[in-house]
Amino acid sequence: MAAAGLSDEGSWPVIIFTTTPNIGTVLKLDGQEFELVRVEPYFRLDGTPSTLLVWESTCPGCASTFEVKSGLKANAINRRCVGCKRVGKPVSGKRRRKVSVEVVCA
Ligand SMILES: [Zn+2]
Repeated sequence: MAAAGLSDEGSWPVIIFTTTPNIGTVLKLDGQEFELVRVEPYFRLDGTPSTLLVWESTCPGCASTFEVKSGLKANAINRRCVGCKRVGKPVSGKRRRKVSVEVVCA
């Protein structure tokens, strides 16, 4: 079973999967759902094999479906599609507040 660890570092919780989560696992960030649709193998710069998680979500800006990739450990996930993305402007706005995170294992 996939396990997710959350640690508080600033306003963004760090998501750490100790094992590769199953396809269909849902990550909820402040109610926005990210569903795991694909897992891709990848190699780090030093050649270590690792896993890339591909999440599908609905953009809160334009309601279109988009994909976002993260590692098993993620300290940030794009909440908007490429078209709506604003560099350096998180969805949560200017105020630093905690993002609620929930992992629903498939
Ligand atoms: Zn969008």
